[in-house]
Amino acid sequence: MSNTPTAPAENAPPVRINLYSDTQTKPSPAMKDAMMAAEVGDEQHGSDPTVHELCDRVATLLGKEAAVFLPSGTMCNVAAILVHCRPGDEVVAHEHSHILSSEGGAHAALAGVQIMQLTGPHGMFTCDTLQASVRAKSRHAPEQRLLSVEQTANRGGGTIWPRDQLDHVLDFAHELGWMTHMDGARLMNAAVATGTPARTYAAKCDSVWIDFTKGLAAPLGAVLPGSHAFIDQAWRWKQRLGGSMRQAGICAAACIYALDHNIDRLADDHANAKRLADGLAKIPGLSVQSPETNLVYFDPTEAGLTGPELIRRMQHKGLRLSQLGPQIRACTHFDVDTAMVDEAVELIAHELRGARGLSDSG
Ligand SMILES: *Cc1c(COP(=O)(O)O)cnc(C)c1O
Repeated sequence: MSNTPTAPAENAPPVRINLYSDTQTKPSPAMKDAMMAAEVGDEQHGSDPTVHELCDRVATLLGKEAAVFLPSGTMCNVAAILVHCRPGDEVVAHEHSHILSSEGGAHAALAGVQIMQLTGPHGMFTCDTLQASVRAKSRHAPEQRLLSVEQTANRGGGTIWPRDQLDHVLDFAHELGWMTHMDGARLMNAAVATGTPARTYAAKCDSVWIDFTKGLAAPLGAVLPGSHAFIDQAWRWKQRLGGSMRQAGICAAACIYALDHNIDRLADDHANAKRLADGLAKIPGLSVQSPETNLVYFDPTEAGLTGPELIRRMQHKGLRLSQLGPQIRACTHFDVDTAMVDEAVELIAHELRGARGLSDSG
């Protein structure tokens, strides 16, 4: 297995409709203008004014004392776990969480922690499940140190933790003396979908971060807020990990632009996801999970094709999808409009009708 990312299949036509991920957005001309105009300094020396402005704004948005700018969401998770835990500690998280499936084993390799996997529908778990995970304190058992939750739960279907359930598990973790961390890669999607302020979801988290490269459509960057003491330690890890930058205000300006222009419009992505799911649900045999935000998961197996085969065929029609676990994921974002959604439904319906050996009128 190669360690390098795979390019789209050879001989495939150019991608016209990219539902692969909300990470694939391109910065808009107006965002690029904001980047060009950014006032910059040496971020590593704490003298980039645009990075300061971004960190102050995200700390306020999430109701925390301070924040640090990092190149990626993955580095936010890595730095936070490094601050909260010591080698040999245990982190408790959902079995489908990003820290387990998609970060290259970073938390074992770098923090030396093990991760206990909780189960539960849609990427979430209950207080009872959490309670059952608690180990009796003994020198035989690892120290359970941190509870990590994802809002929204990506592999759960872009689902939104209800506030009560979220607060219960976070309160319970604190009662146990654990720290709490929120992977908020798509936290702003949850906030826009429910009208609940992001800081309300983050209130009981000792650390939380948002990604600027998902629905917010910036080219890079994520911001990790927490207490002054936490951020002080996170800065040391940023330095150690090579995440300290120089004229990073160029990128922070894109993130500030996204805060000003790209949050409310996440509602459009959610409407498009619903439109996509409603269209797909009309295809016989296709099981579609009803979306709460911008991710649509479906399984075409009963409708006539395996996921990987449908993805391969769609790629030849210029439609890009991804396979996540047993399901296909289609993701709506800044560069996807309603006409593209309708065409995607049409392409998938046509292909599956063909696969079942029915005529188009059948
Ligand atoms: C994308 C994602 C990350 C990682 O963010 P990057 O900026 O791609 O490193 C972490 N957690 C979740 C839930 C994500 O979707």
